[in-house]
Order: sequence, then structure tokens, then C-alpha cells
Amino acid sequence: MTSASEFSFPRHAVIIGAGAVGLMSAIHALDQGLQVTILDFNEAGSEEASSYGNAGWLSSHSVIPPVEPGMWKKVPGYLMDPLGPLSIRWRYLPALAPWLLRNLAGARRERIRRTAGALRTLVADARLLHQEVAQRAGVGHLIDTSGVLHVYRSRQHFDNDAFGWGVRRELGIEWTEFEGEALRAREPDLDPAFGFAVHVGEAGHCRNPGAYMKALDAYARARGARRVHGRARGFRIEQGRLKAVVLETGEIACDAAVIAAGARAKQLALMAGDRVQLESERGYHASIAGQQERATARTPMMVSEFKVIATQMEGGLRIAGQVEFASFEAEPDWRRGEIMRDIALKLFPGLPRDLPAADVKFWLGRRPSTPDGMPCIGYANASRDIVHAYGHGHIGLGCSARTGRIAAQLLTGQAPEIDLAPFSPQRF
Ligand SMILES: Cc1cc2nc3c(=O)[nH]c(=O)nc-3n(C[C@H](O)[C@H](O)[C@H](O)COP(=O)(O)OP(=O)(O)OC[C@H]3O[C@@H](n4cnc5c(N)ncnc54)[C@H](O)[C@@H]3O)c2cc1C
Repeated sequence: MTSASEFSFPRHAVIIGAGAVGLMSAIHALDQGLQVTILDFNEAGSEEASSYGNAGWLSSHSVIPPVEPGMWKKVPGYLMDPLGPLSIRWRYLPALAPWLLRNLAGARRERIRRTAGALRTLVADARLLHQEVAQRAGVGHLIDTSGVLHVYRSRQHFDNDAFGWGVRRELGIEWTEFEGEALRAREPDLDPAFGFAVHVGEAGHCRNPGAYMKALDAYARARGARRVHGRARGFRIEQGRLKAVVLETGEIACDAAVIAAGARAKQLALMAGDRVQLESERGYHASIAGQQERATARTPMMVSEFKVIATQMEGGLRIAGQVEFASFEAEPDWRRGEIMRDIALKLFPGLPRDLPAADVKFWLGRRPSTPDGMPCIGYANASRDIVHAYGHGHIGLGCSARTGRIAAQLLTGQAPEIDLAPFSPQRF
């Protein structure tokens, strides 16, 4: 355990990355009395960041890693079907292989149970933690507290997911079932072919993640955070102490840093002495504006059959999902966006079949994903002045509030509020 005397104050921390994790780290570091610089080559809330276009879920029950026992048998299918809900581009397979092998090795029930237990400590209370910060930032209205739905064709389809729900139950997560007419009354625009759902009341969602990021950034700056536009390349470390974050041009003198660079964090982690396994797990959304009267998801809903989430955002209905493994820079495959739109048409029969193209917007995002489904949070090997905070995969928006608070605890030498052993950046 670190003692507070290890660090001298006042400390100046550079937060690398203005996504959800970086901004939350910045705000909590300010709360702890640190001087803060937020460094990013994009604006906060930019479409480049994963934090912009996600499905908005703040789901304290999203603890089951995206692997399932026997998954290795499906890999040939992932390679053969470039437009399936999970696909791997052939050319990328050699680079992905070490990550994929470790990922598949984790597809065992006991491993999944352990991962779920660890993730629960991180994501529990996500909604409350976000509410608290959002209210301070003047955007409390962006956090909805009415829970989320998991929608199935029938109870039998729900039962097929029994293992995951059983693990959730063991962790104390509760839900309410809705069937037939009760579901119709709750979600009248949803295709009646979906006849069963569970409502998880403890979850929440953000109504506009891009606007939320901008508000968090503005709030941090109003409280004194400095904003620098630039790209971190590495660190100047002398005798184990951080002296500066090195940019493409010049450097920022500082005595602490947080790597919160999302799916781009791997190289910076290496510069901080840690070889982590991190992939950009690409996902897409289709956002449909102007159809609220015909098709509204009254509660955000996950539809396992299509592996998508439908969320009513401030700007329209957002259908988000898909997993595509390709290089970070590979061109987007916008046919995947069209698939998301077509799923929306299936889910909400009231939508006109000839949606005006101008009302449909597609987006590609890159989830920062580790093979074991757990983030990297902890001190760097090269210097305890550097904190890792990335790799939250599918649940980074929800996790960001607690991760930011933990990053600030580490920056100030306090004991972290949860056990960080499962999230060690040195575990690979
Ligand atoms: C389709 C889709 C749906 C999703 N749905 C949900 C959901 O419903 N709920 C949920 O909790 N999560 C969801 N996620 C995941 C979530 O969006 C991410 O886990 C989360 O946004 C990651 O946040 P981050 O701050 O780590 O990274 P990002 O938001 O990607 O931010 C990283 C920032 O770092 C900057 N950066 C990178 N490298 C450098 C550098 N060298 N120097 C300076 N700056 C740098 C980037 O410009 C970027 O602004 C979804 C993701 C996708 C793709």
C-alpha cells in the first residue's frame, strides 16, 4: 500500500485523453487539490472518442465479459462472415492472435464468474456516481434513472441466457420480468414478436454522451484544469520519478500522469514500462432522427438476438452494437451501420421503410478492450507517478466515474477504494 508521504504536494498531473475516463480522472484529481492539465489532440466529446457514440448505458449489472464457453468453435464463422455481429478481418488475424487466444482461454464458467465479481466492484453504483458528477457539472438532466430492459422473443430465449443471469443473481443483482401485454404496455412501439423482457431497475443511462463529455470538460476547466491540444508520445522519467509528458512537439513538465487514452493506450503503456494486451474492438451505431412519434425506445433495451442496444437519445433513436476486429486505422465498413439501421426497422415496425438518408447517421467507435474483459487500473512499472486507466471495453462509460475516482486516489497516494489486483496492468 502506498503512503501519502511518497508524493510531494502540490502535484501537477497531466491527464492523457479527454474521454469519459480521462475527464472523470481530471475532475476527481481537482477534488483532491491537484493541479490538472488535460491533454488530447481531439476536442472533448469528439466523434473520434469511443465516449461519444456509445449506447449510453450506465449499467451496474453489465459484468459478464463478452465471451462464452465453447466460443472457439465459432471463430471460423467470425472469419467467414464479414458482416456478422462479430467478425475478424482475415488480414488482421496474425496481429490479433495472441489477444484472441487469451480471450478464448477465459471462456470458462469459473473465469467468467470471477471476472463478473471483479467488474461488479468497479461498476456498482455507476448510475449514482454519474448522477453526482453530472449534477455538479450542471447536466444532471442527461442522466436517466429509469433502468434498462433486456428483450427476448420469449421466456425460453431468456432461459438460454440462464448462466449469465444466474451469475448476476449471485452478485445480488435484481430484476423484474415483463411478458406479453405487460411488455406491450411498457414498450408499445417494439415489434410484438418480442414477448419477454427483464427490467434492471438499478441501471441508468446517459441521454447524450457527446454532450456529457463536453459538459465534464467545461466543468473541469471552470475549476482550473488547463487544456492542452496535443498528442502524448511518452514520458521523461528520471530515477523513477516522472518529470514530463513528452508530446510530438515539446513536453509538459509535471510530476504525475494518467494514461486515459482509450484504445490508443497500448503504446503509452509500453513507454511507462508495461506491455499490455489491448485491442480496438470496433463497434458501430446508426442514429435515426425525427421519428420519435413512430418509434421510441421508452426504456433503453438490449436485444440479445441481434446483439444490439437501442437507446432513445436526445438526438434520436440510437442502435449500437457489432464487434469488428480490424486494425485501428482500417477504413470503416459502413455496411455495418446499415445493418444497425435495418435492425432498427425490424425492432420498430412503425418506422418508415424509406427512412430519409439525411435522418440516419452512422458512427464507428473503438472500444478499448483487453482479452480478459477487465480494464487496466494501477501504477505503472516504470514510475508510480504514472497511473494506467483504460481498457474498459464494452462498459467504459459506466465504469468511468469510479475509475476516475480511483485514479485520483492513486495520484494522491491514498489506498484505492476497491481491490485493484484483478485490474493490474502487469497481469499480461
Ligand atoms: C458501439 C459502442 C457501444 C457502446 N456502448 C456502451 C454503453 O452503453 N455503456 C458503456 O459503459 N460503454 C459503452 N461502450 C464502451 C465505451 O464507449 C468505452 O469503453 C469508453 O467510452 C472508453 O472511454 P475512454 O475514456 O477510455 O476512451 P475514449 O472515449 O476513446 O477517449 C480516449 C481519448 O484519448 C485521446 N488520446 C488517445 N491517444 C492520445 C495521445 N497519445 N495523446 C493525447 N490524447 C490521446 C483520444 O483522442 C480520445 O479523446 C460502447 C462502445 C461502442 C463502440
